[in-house]
This record gives sequence, structure tokens and C-alpha cells, in this order.
Amino acid sequence: MSKRPDRTPNDQYRLARERMVASQIEGRGITDPRVLEAFKKVPRHLFVDEALWDQAYSDYPLPIKHGQTISQPFIVALMTQALGLRGNEKVLEIGTGSGYQTAILAELAGKVYSVERIPDLLPTARRVLDRLGYTNVVLKLDDGTWGWSDEAPFDAILVTAGSPTVPKPLLEQLADPGVLVIPVGDEYSQVLLKVTKSGNKLREEQLGGVRFVKLVGDHGWRA
Ligand code: SAH
Repeated sequence: MSKRPDRTPNDQYRLARERMVASQIEGRGITDPRVLEAFKKVPRHLFVDEALWDQAYSDYPLPIKHGQTISQPFIVALMTQALGLRGNEKVLEIGTGSGYQTAILAELAGKVYSVERIPDLLPTARRVLDRLGYTNVVLKLDDGTWGWSDEAPFDAILVTAGSPTVPKPLLEQLADPGVLVIPVGDEYSQVLLKVTKSGNKLREEQLGGVRFVKLVGDHGWRA
């Protein structure tokens, strides 16, 4: 990253973000203009440890606490675009982690409900999301494989951890019409599935191979 004295650190991160969007996201076929705008706007570096700020816009996943990861920007973009958000949707995210994907969803939807199972991750995510002024986000500590029944149905559901199967409660809490995106497979590799509910029928589409940390819970992997 340029160290020119006439650029503030914020300018540098903004430029890094614009480059990330051009080369990694738009350059690889993500076309939804609202998605591209959201990735230009959300300061990804604030969601990782300060020691990793200079890598925050690189083309790979980054570690957060407790052996979890914030996904590669392109994968976050691919999953987000697949939800087809237009602005008013009620969205459920399973796996808050750093809160980065949550912020992207908050830019694009009406309201975001996000569930995380590791207690220590939630306050960190909440702090950053509050600092950035997202008032349309609700976070909860729970086993997200059960969904969030009090708030169902959801127009879109995004699972950001890999599962052996699609958790039944999530399919039940999906609105009609609705779309669910989830990595499904074994613990080493998964296929990104897009499940669409329409007229009470489910349709499945594969979006490509991915590698996520485990979805640990009653309807995922056993702890
Ligand atoms: N969306 C996150 C990705 C974090 S990695 C981000 O942008 O940073 C996946 C997260 O899923 C981890 O934080 C992990 O603790 C969480 N997770 C795994 N199983 C879960 C479950 N059953 N319920 C809720 N969160 C879960």
C-alpha cells in the first residue's frame, strides 16, 4: 500500500477497497451494482485485528478469534449476490463471526438478524457494527442451526459455516418466496448451495466449491 504522506490512512484503505472490488469481485463476474457499492463502502479492515489491517483487502480469508475465519472477499460477494437483495428484505445470517458479512447485508437489506454460537465473538462484532452506525442489525448468541423462530419467516437466509446437510429449521423459517445460501459438504470441502422456495416448492442450484469452518450445532456438525 502507498505510503505517500499526502494520503490519510482512510484514503489508503478506501483505495485498497476500490482495487479489491475491481480486481477480485467485479473482475470475477459479480455484477449486481448494489453489491459492488456495498463492498466499496464497508471498511473490512475494522473487522480484523489491527495487526492484519494491511492484509484486509487481500484475496484470501483472514483469521479472527477462536480458530474462525472471515471469508475471502470474493466468496462473501458471491454469496451476497446470490441472495438477490433489493432493499426491504428481512435476512437471517448464521455465523456472525467478525460481523463483516453482517455489515454487507445491512447495507443491502431492510433488517438483518445474525446468530453466533461463540460467546466471545459477539461483543467484538457488535462494537464494530455499532461504531459504523448500523441500526438495522440484531445479534444473538445461540445455536443458529435452529434458526430464529420468533422472527421467522425470512426472505433470505445466509449460512456462513459449512454443514453436512441443510438444517431443517432453516428451510421451515424461509419465506415463500425466499432464498437460502449455505455451504454443504464434509469438513474439508463443500459446495455452495442456493435453495429457492417458490410456490411451496424447493429448487437447488450449485454455485461452486468452497471451504468453510464447521457449522457446529444440533442440525450441523456435533461439537
Ligand atoms: N460471516 C462471518 C464468517 C465467520 S466464520 C464473517 O464475515 O466474519 C463462521 C462463523 O460461524 C464462526 O464465527 C462460527 O463460530 C460460527 N458458527 C458455527 N456454527 C454455528 C452455529 N451453529 N450457530 C451460529 N454460529 C455458528
